[in-house]
Amino acid sequence: MLNSMEIAQIPCLDSNYAYLLHDSASGSTSAIDTPDADVILDALEQRGWNLTDIFNTHHHGDHTGGNLRLKEKTGCRITGPKGEASRIPGIDVEAVEGDVVRVGESVACVIEVPGHTKGHIAYHFEKDNVAFVGDTLFSMGCGRLFEGTAKQMWNSLNKLMRLPESTLLYCAHEYTEANGAFALSVEPNNTDLHARMEEVRMLRSKNIPTVPSSLDMEKRTNPFLRAGSEEVFADIRRRKDCF
Ligand code: ZN
Ligand code: FE
Repeated sequence: MLNSMEIAQIPCLDSNYAYLLHDSASGSTSAIDTPDADVILDALEQRGWNLTDIFNTHHHGDHTGGNLRLKEKTGCRITGPKGEASRIPGIDVEAVEGDVVRVGESVACVIEVPGHTKGHIAYHFEKDNVAFVGDTLFSMGCGRLFEGTAKQMWNSLNKLMRLPESTLLYCAHEYTEANGAFALSVEPNNTDLHARMEEVRMLRSKNIPTVPSSLDMEKRTNPFLRAGSEEVFADIRRRKDCF
């Protein structure tokens, strides 16, 4: 595919991933979240890409900490959740459910997924079959309920579960191996989970990312997606908090 969006996965801080999305036809490059401006600037320079946009998923510092420096260095435009606009440094565009953002030819729809924070959003590039879900959904896990309720988070996860099953989910942290240990405590007899954990341990032993994973894989292995009801979800979330 000549004009498909290129995705660079940039490990930052202890466990974060920033992503650079590049459309070669237009020369547009967007960063999904900005954990570390210097690391992102290096990654851009290595590739000869100019940052045109930042798309923030939520206000936490490990997702927005590089915003102002990157904006100062590159003049990029910053899009983030309207519900958290006052806490997104340098925000230019306040996005709500159904809004469309672009990386050259590639188009993403904004999905509101509150729970981890009150205004958290995800970016779904339908044609590219990828979604950037921030700290809402992790491989075999989900974000802590810092600001929202279990009801909100369960509703948000259900919105993500309605995406096409082959969608690749790009989450914002490499938490997979620890999440998997908890998942196995919830479902010790899930054979898909055992197989996934074997793969995850192998990848991590070589320091290879376990992200992205497909929605299909998450539906088979993520205890939070498999809860089946808000009540069970809330119970599993509480258990994970003290696991
Ligand atoms: Zn967060
Ligand atoms: Fe985070």
